Amino acid sequence: MNRVKNFNAGPAALPLPALERAREEFLDFARSGMSVMEHSHRGKEYEACHDEAIALLKELLAVPDTHEVLFVQGGASQLFAQIPMNLVPKGGSADYVVTGAWSEKAVAEARLATAMLGGAVRVACTTGTGEGKEKSYVRAPAPGEVKAADGAAYLHLTSNETIHGVEFDVDASRAFPGTGAVPLIADMSSDFLWKKIDVSKFGLVYAGAQKNIGPSGVVVMVVSKALVEQGRKDIPKIFQFRTPAENKSLYNTPPTFGIYMIRNVLSWLKGLGGLPAMEARNRKKAGVLYGAIDANPAFYKCPVEKQSRSVMNVVFRLPGEADEERFVKEAKARGMVGLKGHRSVGGIRVSAYNAVEPAWIDELAAFMGEFARKG
Ligand SMILES: *Cc1c(COP(=O)(O)O)cnc(C)c1O
Repeated sequence: MNRVKNFNAGPAALPLPALERAREEFLDFARSGMSVMEHSHRGKEYEACHDEAIALLKELLAVPDTHEVLFVQGGASQLFAQIPMNLVPKGGSADYVVTGAWSEKAVAEARLATAMLGGAVRVACTTGTGEGKEKSYVRAPAPGEVKAADGAAYLHLTSNETIHGVEFDVDASRAFPGTGAVPLIADMSSDFLWKKIDVSKFGLVYAGAQKNIGPSGVVVMVVSKALVEQGRKDIPKIFQFRTPAENKSLYNTPPTFGIYMIRNVLSWLKGLGGLPAMEARNRKKAGVLYGAIDANPAFYKCPVEKQSRSVMNVVFRLPGEADEERFVKEAKARGMVGLKGHRSVGGIRVSAYNAVEPAWIDELAAFMGEFARKG
């Protein structure tokens, strides 16, 4: 077996111990004589695993009693539509902060959903500059730049823009924008569970599992019970947040294998010391990568402003596209894959999610130094 050093943006690397555990339990899950995929989602063996995944999320994030953890399907993309469907009342409006490609998509879907259901959408702040192919996003706004409209149904932001490598820096001098009585909603698909967050500050956070916590097919929501209750009742039941909330995310058949894998990943994460340990590990990795970029300023350029540089998705350019192609190819020959930037922006992107080992990052940084010297 020759496993590569996987820097994919998503689906992305999973921790080897979580995969090995799945291998061990694959044919005979919980001594039931079948795999977890073959179980009824109402059976006690599956249910124990489902409950454990929820309990681990609550424990790791210190989720308060005011909030609950839900599993839904359709990807984070479906939530782009489902959030306004639930939460923008007739005649109401929702605010959006646009910091890159994913928040652009979230607004576009919200426009369609609210047009259908009698509401509106407002872009409260955008950091995009230029148009068309020249459009770029290189920073998250400072808290003072974002002001939620009085009475907005919510303010939505993307805490980490996976494609542009732009992340809200909420640990240094900056916090997420204060929104007063307006609920704050964050798409945390690509920076969920790499460090602690204060759940009580959010009405809703959500994350597609395939970036940092499991395989694709599951979305984790941490949502305030008040928002669930306020949700519209004139949309199909399957889209209402109260449906999974009232049924422990077992209203219909959930993606059982995906939730099982989340359980494995979270129990690995807890074993490593939980979110404080993960934060130290990830900050160190990001420090090594940005260090390798900044050590060769004539060769590597990160377009993102320093304070908004993503810890999870590190993007940079080389002098020319031919250099970038060669970089990706030579790295691949050394067992390092998934480094090509998103097709819409080009360049190089290193996704350094929780499961990416610090040793891989050290090896990549050494390669970057060598590659720059060779020119
Ligand atoms: C990947 C990603 C999405 C889309 O997730 P899907 O599960 O493919 O719908 C949305 N938002 C962010 C920030 C992402 O990184």
